[in-house]
Formats: sequence, structure tokens, C-alpha cells
Amino acid sequence: MKKNLSTTLSALAMTALVSIALLSGCSGTASKPEASDTENTSASADVNETLAGDSAGMGEKDSQGGKLKVMASFYPMYDFAVKIGGDKAEVIDMVPAGTEPHDWEPAAMDIKDLEEADVFVYSGAGIEHWVKDVLASLQNKKLVSVEASEGLTLLAGHEEEDGEAEEDDHGQYDPHVWLSPINAKKEMENIKNAFVKADPDNQDYYESNYQTYSVRFDELDQKYKDTLSALPNKDIVVSHEAFGYLCNAYGLNQVGIEGLSPDSEPDPARMAEIIDFVRANNVRVIFFEELVSPKVAETVAKETGAATQVLNPLEGLSDEELKSGADYFSVMEDNLKQLEAALK
Ligand SMILES: [Zn+2]
Repeated sequence: MKKNLSTTLSALAMTALVSIALLSGCSGTASKPEASDTENTSASADVNETLAGDSAGMGEKDSQGGKLKVMASFYPMYDFAVKIGGDKAEVIDMVPAGTEPHDWEPAAMDIKDLEEADVFVYSGAGIEHWVKDVLASLQNKKLVSVEASEGLTLLAGHEEEDGEAEEDDHGQYDPHVWLSPINAKKEMENIKNAFVKADPDNQDYYESNYQTYSVRFDELDQKYKDTLSALPNKDIVVSHEAFGYLCNAYGLNQVGIEGLSPDSEPDPARMAEIIDFVRANNVRVIFFEELVSPKVAETVAKETGAATQVLNPLEGLSDEELKSGADYFSVMEDNLKQLEAALK
């Protein structure tokens, strides 16, 4: 993974040098070439792309209509940025719909988008393992980057999961901060501050949007408190340990079949442990999520007679969910209904 990213970054650095040489004397502004599905790491092909995009670039900049160009590292960052930016911003979710973000990393096209962006929003705490290298490689002087989790108290991660200590945050902390509504509110506040920094003329607009949603986060938090504190059962069994902050906020206990990252396969001993736990505590529902295979959750359910149900960690929404108008708040309301049904 990291090797691929370095290849992309070094190919882009070469492209930038060659492009500067070719474009010197030309008044072309930075431009966004047409998206290509095939990732191209050949410097000469990238130069062609850059030149081809250059002539088309002007029109596209006009059609952006003076809006802030905002890149968001995955779905919740996208949703919060859209809610703050309203009609003053064009926000791009870097991770495509239906894609799980833990192993995703940017391709050449995404780096080009970042070079042209005004604001880059990422959650941090290690979920975007690529962010440090990419930020260090960018030439974009106007870019305002915001680590939305800044200022939050982070829960410890499971370093043993990766097998080795890494120099960045990856694996050191539990990155799933947004699943506590009060943390999510703080993330949106940090995002709002970045918008104000990048576009101070519209400060009142961004502040007013933040106030609207800040009330909704408080209401959601109160609803979670009222609903969950009244329920007798507190243990939830989930496919991957995304709900640590949520459980922490509302007095629940999370048992993860897999670890903090959904691609870590449980060994037979772990499976046996989970099955014992489910039986001993009369856990009736095993939660899984849509972007990851439900196989292990189904195995545990089959062994114990429990049901399976979706609990959405909001790491990405499907095309269908997006089309139906789902967002952070609607998914969190659905999650609360599922938790209530499982724990009463
Ligand atoms: Zn996760």
C-alpha cells in the first residue's frame, strides 16, 4: 500500500517538474484534467494529461462559480463539510461511495485535486494512514488543511494489531471519533474554523450553519442518553471495533469480532471466545456493517442462535443510501433504533 502511494507521489513530483518546464511561458492556470479510470504512473502520459486538461481548465474554473473547492477524506468529513459549506462550497468525497476507507489511499487524480483545493478536511487520529506523506508532497500554497479530530481526547488503539509500531498515528489510537455525537460536533466546529480561515468574507454564513447543526448534535446526544440509559443490557457484539467512542459516551461495552480495522481476520480462539461471550451474556444481536463481508458475524450468529443486524459506522455510505438522502443524523437515528432493539 505505502509503496504504491510513494510511486504515485514520486511520479507526480516528476510530472510537476516536467510540466513546469513545458508550461513556462504559457499563461495556463492550474487545471483539473478529465478523470481517468486507469491509474497512470508514467510521467510522460501524465504530462499529456496535464496539457490536455490545460485548455479545458478555464471553463471548468468558471463553472465552479467562485465556490470554495473542498476535499474531504471520507464520508463523515464530506457530510460535515457540505453542511458547513452549503452553497458556498463544492465538496468532493475522496473515497468513492460504497468503499471502506481503512485501506483506501489516494491515486494521482486525487493528488491533483488536492493541489487545486482551497480546503482539505480529514479526521485524523490515524484513519487516513496516507495523509502525512501526501500533505508533505503538496505544492499547494493556499490550501487550508484541517485535522477535524484535533482537541478531542483519543482512546488508545491496539498497536499489536498491526504487528509493528508505526511512526505515524496509525494503530496508536482508535480513530472512530465521529461515532460520538459530541465528538462529531467538535469535528464540525474545527471544519467550520477552517472554512472561515479559507474564506473570511463568508464567516457569518459558516458560523450560522454550524449553529444549526450544533443544536442537532446536542439533541442527538440527549436522545442517545435518554434511550440507552433506560435499557437493561449494555453489551454489543460488533464485526469491527468502530463504536468505542459511542460506547464510552453512553455506558455501553463493545466486543469486537475483528479489531479496529475490518480486515483483521479473527483466529479460531478469538471466535470461540466471542461465541462463549454471546452465550454467557445472552447477546441477541450480532452487528455487522454494509461495507464489510458479514461472514464472521453470520458464523457467530449461527453458532449462538443470535440474529444479525446492521450497525453503521458511517465510514462510507452506499450509492442507494446517498440517493435516499441519508446523512450523519439519519444514520445515527437508525443506529439508535438498532441498539435499542438489541439491548431492551
Ligand atoms: Zn473502522
